[in-house]
Amino acid sequence: MTPLFPLIKELLAVTAPVSREVVVRGWVRTRRAMKNLVFVEMNDGSTLSGIQCIFDLASPGADGGVTAEIGRLNTGASAEITGKLVPSPAAGQKVEVAASGLRVLGEAPAEDGPASRAYPLQKKRHSLEFLREMPQLRGRTTTIAAVMRVRNRLACGIHRFFQERGYLYLHTPIITGSDAEGAGAMFEVRAGGGRAEAGAEANPGGFFGKRSFLSVSGQLEAEAYALALSRVYTFGPAFRAENSNTARHLAEFWMIEPETAFFHLDDNMALAEDFLRFLCALVLEDCAEDLAFFEARVEKGLTAAIRQVAETAFTRMSYTDAVTELEKHRGAFEFKPYWGCDLQSEHEKFLTEDAAGGPVIVTDYPREIKAFYMKQNDDGKTVRAMDVLVPRLGEIIGGSEREENLAALETRMRELGLDTGHYDWYLDLRRYGSVPHAGFGLGFERLIQYVTGMANIRDVIPYPRAAGQLY
Ligand code: ATP
Ligand code: MN
Repeated sequence: MTPLFPLIKELLAVTAPVSREVVVRGWVRTRRAMKNLVFVEMNDGSTLSGIQCIFDLASPGADGGVTAEIGRLNTGASAEITGKLVPSPAAGQKVEVAASGLRVLGEAPAEDGPASRAYPLQKKRHSLEFLREMPQLRGRTTTIAAVMRVRNRLACGIHRFFQERGYLYLHTPIITGSDAEGAGAMFEVRAGGGRAEAGAEANPGGFFGKRSFLSVSGQLEAEAYALALSRVYTFGPAFRAENSNTARHLAEFWMIEPETAFFHLDDNMALAEDFLRFLCALVLEDCAEDLAFFEARVEKGLTAAIRQVAETAFTRMSYTDAVTELEKHRGAFEFKPYWGCDLQSEHEKFLTEDAAGGPVIVTDYPREIKAFYMKQNDDGKTVRAMDVLVPRLGEIIGGSEREENLAALETRMRELGLDTGHYDWYLDLRRYGSVPHAGFGLGFERLIQYVTGMANIRDVIPYPRAAGQLY
């Protein structure tokens, strides 16, 4: 294996720093001077706090280049610093670097000059709105870097969870010909640019000979492979032309969709609960430093909330019981609840925070407000749907047992005015070797919002895409 230079995170973990020679590479977070001493906090994104490097300009050991270079070492500049890793007398850090060599790799001007623009992320704190306009630089801030580290751990944990349970990672198409499920407004795909016209002439039906869209969900395709490989999950992008300008909707987001054959709604709920609890436990274990930061700077009580999810069983409640409960408190709501209504954010908040005091799985929704593929209950009114609601956020997971009966599915599709010919391939799954199966979708960014406490979903994805926003 090619040796990599140690990251700052690894340097900070050294327990016996017996004057070890080290090289620190990264970007300057802060810099301050006291007489002959210059304190520079370097960060390379591997940790929250970074490493303190101290230059003693009066020391005879400091090489001649340092004094000349140090004037160029502004906030935001990149540099390579050599020195000795020594125990630190300062509180809050075990080690620091007694620096002797410095090479500025890339300057970051503090002020506008004739040939340069000032580095926009100077020391003062910036609003998240301001940072959203510069996704190319915001990863260098403490908050966004912490979000991205948590995002990474969660992504890794998601694969671990499913791989350990015999699920196969499935890549479903991003471009699709089927208007999946009416899950949301879609983006249409067209062969574009100046040459589109020529293509259009050659192929009047469009590039594919029919209309095509960006996928809103990989579910239908995942079902096909679940009915071949038994357990599959997708983890990929989904696109919805959401015009609602909310703090929990993106036009491009990532979704995790497990689909399991020989599964009923109860099994599916148990899987969803295990999954969320596993991920909360993982964040507590692996992201303690970043979590402490979110607790202190973003949302008080966050750690306790995540611990509660990791450690306590979820409440299960039918939609009908949920509405009965909500109706008892009608006065508390702007949107009055009634049987048949779609649950609003305020209702979800009430159910989780006031009624149950924790996550709630609501099941058996009216079929009129759910997708065509959900398994119908014998009452003729409800379907085997399940939404997992969590305090502070509301819906984090939506899922169901699927209708595996061919006649029932066709009837429902006709009732809804869907073109069964269009879904012929999907109906094949019920024509040949149909079995009970179920699945759900977890919005990856909703999960990250939940565990970091970040208020706006646009701040938990590297490059947010939302109506009117494409940086
Ligand atoms: P909502 O009612 O919150 O818009 P939905 O009912 O449209 O959600 P589903 O179609 O069930 O959502 O999608 C599964 C999951 O994907 C949701 O539980 C949520 O976590 C996530 N999700 C849905 N739409 C978006 C979006 N526009 N941006 C980010 N995540 C989303
Ligand atoms: Mn939606």
